[in-house]
Amino acid sequence: MKEALINLSYLTASVMFIFCLKDLAHPRTAIRGNLIGALGMLLAIVVTLFDRNIVSYNIIIYGVILGTIAGYIIAMKIKMTGMPQLVAILNGFGGGASILVAGAAMVETGVTGDTLLLQTSIATAASGIIGAVTFWGSMVAFLKLQEMWIPGNPVLFRGQHLINLVLLLIAIGLGTWLVLDPSAHSAYWYLVILSSILGLLIVIPIGGADMPVVIALLNSYSGIAGATTGFVLNNNGLIIAGALVGASGIILSKIMCKAMNRSLTNVLFGGVGSVAAAGPGQGDIYAGKVKSASAEELAMILDDARQVMIVPGYGMAVAQAQHPVRDLTNLLESKGIKVNFAIHPVAGRMPGHMNILLAEAGIPYEKLKEMDESNSMMESTDVSIVLGANDVVNPIARTDPKSPIAGMPIIDVDKSRTVVIIKRSLASGFAGIPNPLFVADNSLMYFGDGKKAILDLIQAVKEG
Ligand code: NDP
Repeated sequence: MKEALINLSYLTASVMFIFCLKDLAHPRTAIRGNLIGALGMLLAIVVTLFDRNIVSYNIIIYGVILGTIAGYIIAMKIKMTGMPQLVAILNGFGGGASILVAGAAMVETGVTGDTLLLQTSIATAASGIIGAVTFWGSMVAFLKLQEMWIPGNPVLFRGQHLINLVLLLIAIGLGTWLVLDPSAHSAYWYLVILSSILGLLIVIPIGGADMPVVIALLNSYSGIAGATTGFVLNNNGLIIAGALVGASGIILSKIMCKAMNRSLTNVLFGGVGSVAAAGPGQGDIYAGKVKSASAEELAMILDDARQVMIVPGYGMAVAQAQHPVRDLTNLLESKGIKVNFAIHPVAGRMPGHMNILLAEAGIPYEKLKEMDESNSMMESTDVSIVLGANDVVNPIARTDPKSPIAGMPIIDVDKSRTVVIIKRSLASGFAGIPNPLFVADNSLMYFGDGKKAILDLIQAVKEG
């Protein structure tokens, strides 16, 4: 009876997770979805506390208190622009927890004199391999994004793929040893060490514009590691929750691959982003060709416009310009100008980054146009305002097959009548490459911090 009640609670929690994912798919329902997911997780945790043969609640309580304090401080301190790093490190902790829980369950069987069942030993080996790859891969992703100790660009050496393959095969071999001889616990720890090196080596060659896919993929791995640990513990809640994270991570990776024109196989084999940036230097591209404009000139151009497309990017997040952008939108619309926003799927530093910032500023969702729709509107757009975006509007993606962003679909601002680019300098974006858009015939640069630039523009439009 108790068992049935526990499984029913896990089922309820799992259904809540599914509703959570469904609601998270739209900004309007995302907050409710988050709440449902959190409540589902609370239910799963409470039920687990009843379910297991817990020796002492003290350690659990200390863990909960410490974890809550650490989680609260990190969540409050992290800037919106640092969110991908946070996601990366949290994925890593999921993988790390899987290694430790599966390892502890194995050690426990040694203490009690039991042997691992076939299902448990397979799941333990899988948790060790996937968990270690996730943990160390995520640590590298975190350090790369944080630009701490490891350079953000690809780190390459000869024979990388071969070494990865050999490491994986040996780790699988050690896993097979554990399955065939469940008392060979040392095989598990060797497998964890080799998979840790594999995790480091898989992510180290990936750089620049491909990092978001890696994070989504590691997220998926952390879910799969959770699910396999669920099989170790025979915990249905963990199996289902892990499978949901694993599946949604893979779906997100595929969506992002499509947005960046990378194949998932290419990502899985760790070769993404390893194409060295090539092409002419920045000086050759920009020399003497940049046209910049004053706020007053831009106000005059806007005065003549009927349709404006704002293209936000990472720089809008850095400048925290979303509130002035809303004011500019309202001002232009009060003058009868139609304003929309073109949202590239990997603009900013995490999926949905721009949507969140613009929603926070109260910009109606209907104005946020996905890439395909906004591109279909470009030819009838009078003015595109590129606000702190760079890679996602870089036409090099179409023309230079050697570029690290080659083939990535971009927002076709160059097809609108006039392009206004707001940024502080001619510096490159995340992918570290020059952008010929800055010197296109129909482009005008407005140099300055994104927020100040939009405030100046508002002033100029009001005065114009
Ligand atoms: P980019 O990183 O290409 O460019 C951002 C631009 O913003 C810079 O060129 C910078 O120029 C400008 N900028 C920075 N601070 C300010 C400021 N205060 N005011 C005005 N401008 C500023 O951004 P995009 O959004 O175009 O592209 C995102 C890139 O990040 C892609 O390469 C994507 O692959 C990658 N990425 C995306 C993730 C995601 O999930 N969305 C995650 C990780 C990476 P300047 O210094 O001259 O001002």
